Amino acid sequence: MPLGGYTPPMPLIVTGTIGIDTVHTPTGEAERVMGGSCAYFAAAASFQAPVRIVAAVGGDWPESHRQLLERFENISMEGLELRPTGTTFAWGGRYFDNMNKRETLFTDLGVLEGDPPMVPEAYRGSDIVFLGNTHPAEQLRMLREFPNPRLAVADTMDLWINIANEEVMELLQLVDGLVLNDDEAEQLTEIRNVISAGRKILEYGPSWVVIKKGEHGCVLIHHNGVATMPAFPADVDRVVDPTGAGDSFAGGMMGYLATVDSIDFNALQTSLAWGTVTASFTIESFSLDRLAALSREEIDERMRQFQSMTRVG
Ligand code: AMP
Repeated sequence: MPLGGYTPPMPLIVTGTIGIDTVHTPTGEAERVMGGSCAYFAAAASFQAPVRIVAAVGGDWPESHRQLLERFENISMEGLELRPTGTTFAWGGRYFDNMNKRETLFTDLGVLEGDPPMVPEAYRGSDIVFLGNTHPAEQLRMLREFPNPRLAVADTMDLWINIANEEVMELLQLVDGLVLNDDEAEQLTEIRNVISAGRKILEYGPSWVVIKKGEHGCVLIHHNGVATMPAFPADVDRVVDPTGAGDSFAGGMMGYLATVDSIDFNALQTSLAWGTVTASFTIESFSLDRLAALSREEIDERMRQFQSMTRVG
């Protein structure tokens, strides 16, 4: 598995939620900490490529959250809109004993119910677009602003598949790739087997789909074949909070894709490893704390370990 033929990374543009999370795990809890799909994605991707955020927060957004996000050097916050009279998206979740499954306790949409955030003029020409988890109407609007991107990839989740199914299906006709977890793939297709569900999703529009299976790794289903990747093995005491693992996976994956000349099957297969390794750090702390303390060298070192663990032949 090559570490990547290096060209200067392209800027990645991302939309999604900047959220205030309250998380309960079997071993601890975190109250009103920094979270959201856009935040995790941007932090994770920023180790490999410049990231441009398009999102909105309300007047209640804590200053400490802004300071945490500002610790990531490669993130442009020009597209982060502060709406003083609105409230920030807030989410609460509880993990079950094995940390692989969770239930949502509450979702307060807040500013997500208003107009979608504006894309700053300086972000024009962004060639790689990631539509992180948020209302699909916002994902569609963002995609319309970038009609011919080099790569457009989306994520979605149960809430949106339930309440905005038509828009999710419209989105799938327009994106190159989709990243989602096994339960969401089943919900979208009514097919339990991930390979069969993945092939069904390709019929909806994308050229490829990555289905994540938590601690059991992930599968890429592509018009040109199938690839599989285990999760990075972690002792139980290293898994503090799985929140954001999916968004960090996507961030590591897309960050790598922003550095390659040709986004083909091989590049996608390699990107699965970057996503896996990046997400393996996120789950070592609550919120974005581990990512904020992470260095590119640590990612590269863990990538080398992962390469030797997954080598065949
Ligand atoms: P993940 O664990 O990668 O699936 O993502 C967890 C993050 O997604 C949390 O930080 C939440 O704030 C955010 N989140 C939860 N529900 C939603 C939703 N319906 N739309 C967008 N983001 C969400």
